[in-house]
Parts: sequence; C-alpha cells; structure tokens
Amino acid sequence: MSLGCRSDVEPFPTGAVRLSVPSQYAFWWRLTEACSGLTGDLSQIQWYTIPNVASFYLNSDTAYNGAWFPNGNRIVLADSSVNNGQAIRHEMLHALSRMTSHPADLFLTKCGGIVACSNIPCASAAPPAASAPILDASLFPVSVAVTPSIDADSGNAGWFVVTVSVKNPSAQPVRLHYAIDSAGDPYPVTFGVYSWPPLFSPDFIEPVDTNSLVGFAVGEVKRWTFDLNLGATPAKPKGTYAITGFFNGDSSAAVSFIVP
Ligand SMILES: [Zn+2]
Repeated sequence: MSLGCRSDVEPFPTGAVRLSVPSQYAFWWRLTEACSGLTGDLSQIQWYTIPNVASFYLNSDTAYNGAWFPNGNRIVLADSSVNNGQAIRHEMLHALSRMTSHPADLFLTKCGGIVACSNIPCASAAPPAASAPILDASLFPVSVAVTPSIDADSGNAGWFVVTVSVKNPSAQPVRLHYAIDSAGDPYPVTFGVYSWPPLFSPDFIEPVDTNSLVGFAVGEVKRWTFDLNLGATPAKPKGTYAITGFFNGDSSAAVSFIVP
C-alpha cells in the first residue's frame, strides 16, 4: 500500500467527502509534532475521506491510502485508513513540514516508525559501510514506552500508542543481523508487543527478508509504534497491565498501563 504525496501535481480526487475529525487525531498530531520538532495548528487541516475504498488513484497507476494537498491544506484518506495511526501521522508530517517530498531526516531519522514510510518513495538514509561489523539482534537493547500510561478517557477515544525501540549498542556504525526463531520460521518477527494480562492481541511486524542487514549509525535508535484502541465499550477490566516490547528474539522490561 502506498501513501500519496505528489499531490501538488495531482487533481483532487472525485468522490472525497468531508471527514469529521476523530478525537484521537489531536493525540496523533502531538506525536508527530514531538518526533519532528515542528509545530502547527491541526484545526487548519481540512480532512476528507473516500467512502468504501481501501485505496484510490490519482493521475497514475499508483494506489494510495492517503494524500496531502498543499492547496487548501487538505488530507484525503481512503475509508479503510481513517484509524491507521502511522498512515495518518505520515500525512500530518507533510502538513507540518509543508513539503510534498519525503526527506530522510524527517521521515526516517526523526520520525521513522512513528509515521509510515514503506513502499513509498521516502528518501533512504545512507546505508552503513560494507565494513561495518555485523552484530546479532540479541545484542541490541530493547525498550518500550506507553503513551499515555493511564487510560483515563483523556480525549483519545481509548487510543494509546506503544513505542518499541532498539538501540545500537556499539560506539561505531554496525549492521544488525536477524535471528531466525527456533521454529525455523523464515520470516522472524522484528518489532512486537504484548500485554499481561491480555489487554489486546499480540501484534508484531515481520521483516521482508530474513537475510537483510539493517544499518545503525552511532547512537541510532530505531522504533516502531503500535496504535491500540481500548474502545469505549466493552470496558476492559480495571487494573494494571504489564506491556512488553520485543524485537526479534529479545524482550524489553515491562512497563505498566493502568485501566482505572
Ligand atoms: Zn508522503
């Protein structure tokens, strides 16, 4: 699935209708401001959706699930993407930066894993040198953060975000090598998240290629965000839930999420 952003040269899609802004968009806007260091006024964006579609086409054969149009500061979403946090934050980052392009500094270095950036022409960060040491994924520390940490109807409509991070453990650029799990699955998981007691279904991301090496600069942290929604009803049992992030074969220390 692609995210469209060459919108300054495209016609505004026919069939788009105004979207009343879901309350969690303000939360996602703050996340996008925080990672980018940019600030802007969410209320200046006009939101549209195209009903009953999973993707749409502009002036090409490329399928899009979202697009930002500088003219009028408009964002159009395919109907099936109106609760897709990463996809929406991607379009928000266009609106915040006022750019239709995908500079690596913004979309990868600062906001990678927080905004969607795959299968689209996001500029690539510089690859690691072929001489960079190869380290097993198990050597990379994994951490997890939950925002907000308490579900207290904070205006997010039950939405919260779990961010899993993995950091280069070395003082030099390295290349990470994925471990294949004990079952020999050729597509071992990369980032994942689960809770105990179960608050949501475990979620994880798979790599495209088991043998791919992932470059890390000095001090680099790579992240992935999982957008989770408790919903208004049925209410989840009150209590403290331990949320754990994982990356390939490793787990983070758990952090608490409270349902009051
Ligand atoms: Zn884009």
